[in-house]
Amino acid sequence: MKKAWLTVDLEEWYHLDYLDKAVCRDTGVRTVPQIFDFLKLLDEVGVKATFFCVGEIADEYADILREIVRRGHALACHGWDHSLLTNKPEEVFIAETLRAREAIEAASGASVTGYRAACFTMDREKLEALRRLGFNYDSSRIRFTQHPLYRNLDLEGFESPDDLVYVREELTEYEIPTLDILKWSIPISGGGYLRLFPFWLLRLLLAAYAKKHENFTIYIHPFELTDVKLPLPKDLSLVTRFRCLVGRRGNLKKLKKVIRWLQKHGARFMTLEEDRKERGLA
Ligand SMILES: [Zn+2]
Repeated sequence: MKKAWLTVDLEEWYHLDYLDKAVCRDTGVRTVPQIFDFLKLLDEVGVKATFFCVGEIADEYADILREIVRRGHALACHGWDHSLLTNKPEEVFIAETLRAREAIEAASGASVTGYRAACFTMDREKLEALRRLGFNYDSSRIRFTQHPLYRNLDLEGFESPDDLVYVREELTEYEIPTLDILKWSIPISGGGYLRLFPFWLLRLLLAAYAKKHENFTIYIHPFELTDVKLPLPKDLSLVTRFRCLVGRRGNLKKLKKVIRWLQKHGARFMTLEEDRKERGLA
């Protein structure tokens, strides 16, 4: 392996698309303040990560954002309120993106040049809008055909100088990798799958992945990095409850093993901004 990018979608558990945000937010339970164990882990393994922050929580967590920056990580934008971009009018998208960038920059003092769409719902039109707004990179492309929310982002006209990297003019797109097994694309690099699979299985999948790929992206969320009890609504289906809760306990330890495995196999971790600099794009 050559490079690995660890990315965090810095959002609250109530931003999960299958939860009622207002009801869950009112419970007062928060997961982002638990992120310090994870930050400590990153220092231990010598990894700088990219944090895509939801704009509406930037002010509430200003201290945490500044601490993330102080430790040498990068901050980027994960939309204003985590609503999906699907069917969102372009002018609304632009207004929300500007509002989010401003909030994150004001809270952290860092400049924000990257974006990731909620649930990877980026499309080509909005990618072009990001470029016009001065964003330098986006990481919203995933090839995952079974999930109804995730679409394949059209990157016609982009060049791919490296595995998972696409460049057109000032904009770089970073793909979230999936592992193709038979007719399924398995997003082994994050979310529920990373929590669900035991490390012995992840290691086999990573080894299979490393035969065909050179780079890797991990994506995770604060609620997956702590086992703080989430007051999920009683009427939530068993499947959704499972999706939400499986493998949270011990996930931090497993993540450390995954990072160590990647490092042992040659992957250098860096923020997406650092990667662009190394390629001479920034
Ligand atoms: Zn998200």
